[in-house]
Amino acid sequence: MERHPETAMVQGGRPTGPSAMLNTPLVLNSTFRAGGESGYGRSGNDTWAAFEDVMGELEGGEAIAFSSGIAAASAVLDLVPIGGTIVAPASFYMGLWSQLGERAESGRANIHFVDQTDTAAVLNAAQGADLVWIETPSNPLMQIADIAAIAEGLDRATLLAVDGTFTTPLLQQPLALGADIVVHSATKLIGGHADLLMGVVCTNGPTAERLRDHRYTYGATPGSLEAFLALRGLRTLSVRLERAQANALALAELLGDSDYVKYVLYPGLTWHPGHALAKRQMRGFGTMLSFEVAGGERAATRLCEATQVFAHATSLGGVESLIEVRGNRESEHAMGTPPGLIRLSAGIEHVDDLLADLQQALTIAHSG
Ligand SMILES: *Cc1c(COP(=O)(O)O)cnc(C)c1O
Repeated sequence: MERHPETAMVQGGRPTGPSAMLNTPLVLNSTFRAGGESGYGRSGNDTWAAFEDVMGELEGGEAIAFSSGIAAASAVLDLVPIGGTIVAPASFYMGLWSQLGERAESGRANIHFVDQTDTAAVLNAAQGADLVWIETPSNPLMQIADIAAIAEGLDRATLLAVDGTFTTPLLQQPLALGADIVVHSATKLIGGHADLLMGVVCTNGPTAERLRDHRYTYGATPGSLEAFLALRGLRTLSVRLERAQANALALAELLGDSDYVKYVLYPGLTWHPGHALAKRQMRGFGTMLSFEVAGGERAATRLCEATQVFAHATSLGGVESLIEVRGNRESEHAMGTPPGLIRLSAGIEHVDDLLADLQQALTIAHSG
């Protein structure tokens, strides 16, 4: 029977049969007695496998879990031969921007950074490229790239990888839209409780095999406890996401109405430049938004220090709402992020408490 993703994430990855445990246990084991199929723990583990079963079903591919989102992304970028060409967004997750810079500097790859909202520019830069990396919505500017149009226009030899960290498989299905690879930082919404670091790649065919070999050879294996917790987090993703998304929209609207706010970036707002595309491509607008207040970086810092319900911290996607000044980092600066840009991750607290907290912090930021 075909099941919905909300059901798959609850029921998938469980042992079956009479007297089977309902949950795949936390397996703490590194080696196996000789003579069977399993040899050594770096090639696989029952706890990772349970998590991978569910993620693979959700994305419509094979899932390979890694020790972090960055490790998952690195394995994908390593598919590109030395001296090959990678096209990447001009503005996206700063950790990957830094890594691509390092790859260019050390002569491992040629990197072309392009405005990923401009499909023609992406396709133009992608001629002869080995891999195109897009991230939609992007971190932290919430830009929307057209996955289907980019997939459609690329040569068959060019791989298209999508960072789906902000959407999870519930809001966006890159493989179904024509992408070859989808990458998630499971540290964020999938884990959902700010208590683990993990990443996962979903893809098909020989690419899946190469990535599994990469994990074995280079060793970025997830821990069993992390895989157990990530699967436990995944079980409740659909309800967490629903609440956090509703909270994000309410917060975006409050910010949109505030005289102290210069602009709000949230794809769910009708005036967001990517709104129509996001509406087509996504099943919801996500839990992340960014904005700038009048008074620049100083006012932004005052605001983040004045919140009492939002935790002033980096990262995203947990049950707890987080807020930080994102634009003041060196790499964000280099990518052209406005220095006072504030990034907010909506959690699942009561919306009235979040709205009241943000309102009082705006007042403090403005009066300082
Ligand atoms: C956090 C993040 C990553 C990196 O994941 P880690 O689990 O921190 O290594 C990659 N992409 C995006 C969009 C992220 O937000």
